[in-house]
Amino acid sequence: MRRGLHLASDLVETMLQAARAAGPEECCGLIVGTLDPAPRALRLVPSQNTHPEPRRFFEIDPKVQFDTLRRLRQSGETILGHYHSHPAGPARPSARDLAEANDPDLAWLVIDPLAGEVAAFLPRIGDDGKIAEFRAIPLLG
Ligand SMILES: [Zn+2]
Repeated sequence: MRRGLHLASDLVETMLQAARAAGPEECCGLIVGTLDPAPRALRLVPSQNTHPEPRRFFEIDPKVQFDTLRRLRQSGETILGHYHSHPAGPARPSARDLAEANDPDLAWLVIDPLAGEVAAFLPRIGDDGKIAEFRAIPLLG
């Protein structure tokens, strides 16, 4: 994933539309696709933002995660990561996002609906074994 994530422009457009439709609240969802021969997003699984403060934070409905994992079993597809929006920007993870990150293999896509921008990041583990930072990864067509 470090080398980039293939993401077709219609999926980028779908994410921007979801972010705009959510208005002052953060939208969120899962990114499903394949890892071989290269990470490629095939579709989005939108979720309700179940966080009690959806204007400032996001939480993907655990049921959506569970159902998606179950549906993907033996399909060859996997959850590559997730997306959420920052209604007032920017398209990069917040300090809170970093605190929530726990899987170095799951991509974080952050949407800035005002700038019309979607950017991708991967959590990186530091020397202490904990998530230390996000590194930007290229979004490929
Ligand atoms: Zn965020």
